[in-house]
Amino acid sequence: MRKEVTKAKRIVIKVGTSTLIYPNGNINLAAIDQLAFVLSDLRNQGKEVVLVSSGAVGVGMHKMNQATRPTTIPEQQAIAAIGQAELMNIYNQRFSVYNQQTAQILVTRDVIDFPQSRVNVINTLEQLLAMGTIPIVNENDTVAVDELEHTTKFGDNDQLSAIVTKLITADLLIVLSDIDGFYSADPSKNPDAKMYQTVSVIDECLMAQAGGAGSTFGTGGMSSKLQAALRIFEANSTMILANGKNPTIIFDLLAGKELGTLFKEEHV
Ligand code: ADP
Repeated sequence: MRKEVTKAKRIVIKVGTSTLIYPNGNINLAAIDQLAFVLSDLRNQGKEVVLVSSGAVGVGMHKMNQATRPTTIPEQQAIAAIGQAELMNIYNQRFSVYNQQTAQILVTRDVIDFPQSRVNVINTLEQLLAMGTIPIVNENDTVAVDELEHTTKFGDNDQLSAIVTKLITADLLIVLSDIDGFYSADPSKNPDAKMYQTVSVIDECLMAQAGGAGSTFGTGGMSSKLQAALRIFEANSTMILANGKNPTIIFDLLAGKELGTLFKEEHV
């Protein structure tokens, strides 16, 4: 029983494309419906909820009947622009079933690096939470570019969700992925890999288990989840990595059930 998790009042939830889009490219309506239901119910329980959602490119590809991911940056950004609007449309439809107001927040890293912009983002998020809405956050793909000279890109929404958690001093970050938790090795390659229930120290040894300590951060995958967890440690908050196949798992996690991997720094 994870007693401290049951007390979490302000919660950030991050969903990846794998939760929102089927491998065949179609939209996973069941998952999105469940997400809207669960998050609206958490609001009704009096909790404050922020959703960090990927999926803009995937939804845009679906909308434009494109089977393969575009290769040029303008094409990717155009597809993201189409997909982001459509994704919000789908979320709004589902959340409105539960009479739950949402709001869209699109950010780039430099927004957070400039003190005044940072304050503005925090104020907006605080106001939206005070108004009872569920802010839905994503990176502003049409502005952020992935070039060497630019640092405007978060790299991935794992980092973004950890940054948002820190900004609003949330009690808990739940990262939903396509895997049950963090394992001692990639379970798709190593059937003997064991899942960690709790991680309280992130060292090089653990980084290596994430698929290579040498891999650059911010490229998705497990090293990016660990990098997000490090930010959570810095913020003295808590993160759970769990399987998003069935988003009602969020209820179980908040009931303190020992599912997924809990990341909480040990203070000695
Ligand atoms: P998401 O798209 O949800 O952000 P990713 O696909 O980037 O997630 O990362 C999840 C994948 O990382 C898993 O499906 C798994 O194959 C792989 N992986 C590599 N190393 C590990 C590990 N140590 N524990 C768990 N999963 C791992």
